[in-house]
Amino acid sequence: MRSVTVLGATGSVGRSTLDLVERAPDRFRVRALTANCDVDALAVAARRTRAGLAVVADEACLPALREALAGSGVRATGGRHAVIEAAAGADWTMAAIVGCAGLEPVMAAIAGGGTVVLANKEPLVSAGELVLAAARASGATLLPADSEHNAIFQCFDFARPERVRRIVLTGSGGPFRDWTREAMRNATPEQAVAHPNWSMGAKISVDSATLFNKGLELIEAARLFPVPPDAIEIVIHPQSVIHSLVDYVDGSMLAQLGPSDMRVPIAHTLAWPDRMPTPMAPLDLVALGRLDFAAPDAARFPALGLARAALVAGGARPAILNAANEVAVAAFLQRRIGFLEIAAIVADTLTRYDPPAPATLDAVLAVDTEARALAGERVKDCVS
Ligand code: NDP
Repeated sequence: MRSVTVLGATGSVGRSTLDLVERAPDRFRVRALTANCDVDALAVAARRTRAGLAVVADEACLPALREALAGSGVRATGGRHAVIEAAAGADWTMAAIVGCAGLEPVMAAIAGGGTVVLANKEPLVSAGELVLAAARASGATLLPADSEHNAIFQCFDFARPERVRRIVLTGSGGPFRDWTREAMRNATPEQAVAHPNWSMGAKISVDSATLFNKGLELIEAARLFPVPPDAIEIVIHPQSVIHSLVDYVDGSMLAQLGPSDMRVPIAHTLAWPDRMPTPMAPLDLVALGRLDFAAPDAARFPALGLARAALVAGGARPAILNAANEVAVAAFLQRRIGFLEIAAIVADTLTRYDPPAPATLDAVLAVDTEARALAGERVKDCVS
C-alpha cells in the first residue's frame, strides 16, 4: 500500500491522477489533497478517497472547506504554508499545481523523499538546477508526467546517454497551428483554450496555443535529460499520437505512442518501474491511418525562439520568461490584452530585466516576483 499526495487535486491532471488512484484502492491510500480555493471539488474528492488531509492554498477558503468536510474525518488546513507542509511525507506525490506557485510545494515534496512526479513544469523551468540538486540531496525519485517527457523517459537509455544523438519533442501545434499572425491578433480566450487533442487547464491550453508550452517543455527536457540544448528538436505532429522520440547514433529512433490522455503517462509514473492497467482502449493504428510531421514556424510563434534563447543563456532567463508568461496568460484570459501581446510582453520583460543567476530558492522567488511586476506594468500599458 503506497501513500499518495496530489498537489493540485482539483485540476485537470489532479483529477486524472485520482481517477487512476481510485481504480486501485488496494494499492494506494490518499494522504493529502490540495487545491487553491475550489472547496466543493476538493471536499468531494477528499470524502470519496477518504483522504487524511485536505488543504486550500487560499486561507480565506478554509472556513468553507471545514464546513464541507464536517463529520467526514478528513482534516482541513489552509494557507500557502499549509500546502507546503502537506507536500512532504507521501510515498508518491503528484505535483500538479499550475505555475510557479507550485515551486515551494515541489521543493518540500522533494525534501521529504519518496517519488515526486512532475506535471507542474514551471518549477523545473524557473529553478531547474535547485530542483535537481534537492532531489540528489534527499534521494527523492523524480519522474516526469508531462506526456512528452514521460515518452522520452521511457525511450532514453540512461546507462549510455552518449549514444543519444537527439531528443525530438513532438507538439500538436495547438489550435492556431495553421492561423496567420493577422488572424491570431483577434483570437479569443475561448478559441485559445479549445485544444484540438488534449483536455487541459486554461493556462497550459493558452501556452499550447502560443507554443510557449513547447518552449517550457524544451527547457524542461534540458533539465531532465543529459543532452545539450542543440540536441533537442521540436517537431509539429498534429495527431498527438507519438508523444516524443529519442534518436540514437546508429540511426534508430525510439518513440512512445499512446492516446492523448494524461492517464497514460500518469499511470506509468504511478506503477513505475512496473506497469498498471488503465481504462484506455489500445490505439487503433489502422483507424488512425497516417501520422504527419512538420517543422515549427518560429516566425508565427516567437515563443519558441524566446524559450530557446532563455535556455541557452541560462541563469535567471528561464525564470523571467516563465513569470512574464504567467502574468501575460492571466491577462489574456481576463481579456485585458490580445493574444499576440503575450509573447511581446515576455520579450519585453526579458529585455528590461537581466539580474544575476539566482543561486537559492529565495533568489529564484525574488526574480519571479520582480519579473511579474515588470510584466504587470506592461499589461497596464497595453490596457491604457
Ligand atoms: P488546472 O488549472 O486544471 O489545475 C491547477 C490546480 O492547481 C488546481 O487544483 C488549482 O486549484 C491549483 N492551484 C491553482 N493556483 C494555485 C495556487 N496559487 N496555489 C496552490 N494551488 C493552486 O491545471 P492543469 O491540471 O492543466 O495543469 C497543472 C500543471 O500540470 C501545469 O503546470 C501544467 O503545465 C502541467 N501539465 C498539465 C497537463 C494537462 O493535461 N492538463 C499536461 C502536462 C503538464 P483550484 O482548482 O482550487 O483553482
